[in-house]
Amino acid sequence: MKAVRYHSPGSPDVLSFEDAPVPEPRAGEVLVRVKACGVNRIDIWARSGRYNTALPHTLGTDVAGEVVVSNDRAVMPGSNVLVYPVLSDGTCAYCRRGAPNLCLSRGFVGVATDGGYAEFVKVPAKNLIPSEKVDPNVAATLPVNYGTAWSGLASRARVGPDDTVLVWGAAGGLGNAAVQVAKYLGAKVIAAVGDDAKSSFVKSTGADHVVNNRTEDLAERVRSFTGGLGASVVFDHVGGDTWGKSIECLARGGRMVTLGLTSGAKSDVDVRRVYSDQLSIIGTYGQSKGDIEHVLELVAEGKLKPSIYKELPLSSARDAHEIIESRGIQGKILLLP
Ligand SMILES: [Zn+2]
Repeated sequence: MKAVRYHSPGSPDVLSFEDAPVPEPRAGEVLVRVKACGVNRIDIWARSGRYNTALPHTLGTDVAGEVVVSNDRAVMPGSNVLVYPVLSDGTCAYCRRGAPNLCLSRGFVGVATDGGYAEFVKVPAKNLIPSEKVDPNVAATLPVNYGTAWSGLASRARVGPDDTVLVWGAAGGLGNAAVQVAKYLGAKVIAAVGDDAKSSFVKSTGADHVVNNRTEDLAERVRSFTGGLGASVVFDHVGGDTWGKSIECLARGGRMVTLGLTSGAKSDVDVRRVYSDQLSIIGTYGQSKGDIEHVLELVAEGKLKPSIYKELPLSSARDAHEIIESRGIQGKILLLP
């Protein structure tokens, strides 16, 4: 089969479109013919060498396709599926209580195992989510971005109509998913972007207000939209560089949903504000299968409309990575084998 692999970590140039053996599913696993695979920042981190992956390695965490070989009696070949990307042992204390994204030996498809930058991928049958109603090109936009946004905002922070949610990086894949999810949950949405050119796109996806956090005072703007109070929820997927500003933007009793560390892992936070204003710091990592099933259903009902920025052939994976690294994207990039 054709696959995009790298034989040693590095720049986008290490990605090679080449022949690779078709994976052989074991008991309890299935072979999926990949119809679409989303490109995510986690792919870039893996390619850059942040994780200890076996080499050569095939990236790709957001996979939609069709089951072609099943070694599980409950799964029929021919089924259209979306892959739940969190791998778990199914046996630890967290798995037993139904939280595989807390699993002690947690991993992701496309990081811990070969992923969907290929014509075929093998995954555990328990990771399949039936997806007959949603086009695979749309389904493949969902797990990492929409599943994670749903996990952080709906499952963890319990966002509702009384909330004002500030979203960092609101034009990117994850940020824009958070804008749409927060809006669907009934919240008022303030979108932070680093470039005025992205403002109209972000507004078209549901943001009530857009602030350029590079040229404007974000905290002051957020207060101006909230009667001086601040946002009740901040969705911060940027990390160390933005934590302090996120806390500054929160209203008393506010919740900060924090995930990812694109800008680094260290932060100087005014701890006094956290306790005196009774702020909650809510970490979120990955997503549950239920989070993805939920957003898949909302997409099938037309209540969420993922933005697809570009659909590229698998052979153009290198271009996809270069686009994401240049931070010029609005919505999702898909690779189509
Ligand atoms: Zn476990």
